[in-house]
Amino acid sequence: MKSISRRALSLYALILLFLAGSALLYFNLVTNANDWAMNRANKHLYSNGALSTAGDILDADGNVLVSTKDGKRVYSSSKNLRMALLHTLGDTSGYIANGIQTVFKDELTGYTLLDGVYNLKRYGKGNDITLTLNSKVCETAYKALGERKGTVGVMNYKTGEIICIASTPTFDINDKPNDIDTDTTGKYEGIYINRFFSGVYTPGSTFKVLTAICAIENIPDIYDRTFECKGKVSVGEGYVICSGTHGKIGFEKALNKSCNCAFAKIAEELGAEKLMATAERIGFNQNMADISGKIHCAKSRIDLTQSSALDIGWAGIGQYTTLINPCHMLTVMAAIANGGTAPTPYLINTITSPKGKTVFAAKQSVIGEYFTPDVAEKTDEMLRSNVKNQYGDGFFPQMNFCGKTGTAEVSNDKNIKPNALFVGYSQLEEMPFAVIVVVEDTTTSITSAVPIASKVMKTVKSEYVNK
Ligand SMILES: [Zn+2]
Repeated sequence: MKSISRRALSLYALILLFLAGSALLYFNLVTNANDWAMNRANKHLYSNGALSTAGDILDADGNVLVSTKDGKRVYSSSKNLRMALLHTLGDTSGYIANGIQTVFKDELTGYTLLDGVYNLKRYGKGNDITLTLNSKVCETAYKALGERKGTVGVMNYKTGEIICIASTPTFDINDKPNDIDTDTTGKYEGIYINRFFSGVYTPGSTFKVLTAICAIENIPDIYDRTFECKGKVSVGEGYVICSGTHGKIGFEKALNKSCNCAFAKIAEELGAEKLMATAERIGFNQNMADISGKIHCAKSRIDLTQSSALDIGWAGIGQYTTLINPCHMLTVMAAIANGGTAPTPYLINTITSPKGKTVFAAKQSVIGEYFTPDVAEKTDEMLRSNVKNQYGDGFFPQMNFCGKTGTAEVSNDKNIKPNALFVGYSQLEEMPFAVIVVVEDTTTSITSAVPIASKVMKTVKSEYVNK
């Protein structure tokens, strides 16, 4: 539960920052009381400290998600959609630090350093922001998560457009629960956090994809190797336990079966330096560029510098101190699907002035080559084999789906249940989408994370392929 308490801590830090920011604003207003125009303009922008007059936010199809009517922010009439989009849109008081209404406040109010709030006074509103999101997919993801805590993200792996974000727990912005701050049951844990951007998780077996990639890059005869799984295997001065007894097993089958014995031995052979080199080349231990220039992502972390051979064995199966951020991990999957090149993820399509002029239009770009095309192709074949031979194409009918599950133990305490993960994508040319699902405190990934990915990708298919 380390990652959760860390999230809680960062939440408090954010609230403190917000309060400090409010105090600063108040101080500035009081000391600059002569500047009556700005003062009045601020009253116009904020009602009881909340953003009240601002432009619309729309989804990729032009549906209005939030707008201003009679000095109040008005959200979608669908409760499910309001619940689904809470963290992405954010609130008007800045509790949700990464929300569009918080980080793009200046754009929405049309405030510029040069003109102040000129546009607002003249047009009564600021700029409109059109997102890359598909509302239907977001709603499906939220409903599929339901009462469970977790996150879902979907990205177009050719363009980098983020078409779906869901983060739970959430609440209805039109009916915020009164007991959020007093609750002691934990049901609201991290409720202000957008887990997709700000969360970090133990990867569990999803990390075997990266161990496999490192092996393809560094062990020339990896496909000719066989591994012995008797349910546990000695690594360094201890043992790594497997979830099954897989007997003699080759490289691809070992990934299909998610054999801990095979992957712990592969990691031990690779060693700390090679594993860290692969991970750091694809963005671990670095800040991703802020999404659409302003939305900050938590860092994926790996540190094997002081690790024993046994630690490295556990790291190779995703059960060490390594942590992944969902948005970053989704970008890694996108790179595998996209022939090795990682697209730059983005969430804002356009910003339009009150006069209807496009003042910003997203340009697609790439982060760089995470893998060579050859390594990407080999990994792609193994991930396809996982779905075809292990999880079953029935979850993703006619989608040529690729993926990897992970069930991450987060505590030695038997009362604390694991997190379940799934990462994957469709190989179909007309459906270039990658998905990540994280479900906290649950059962196995095949019974929790995969069915959620299945529902979400079926909606993606009906929205983009069968439309
Ligand atoms: Zn095994």
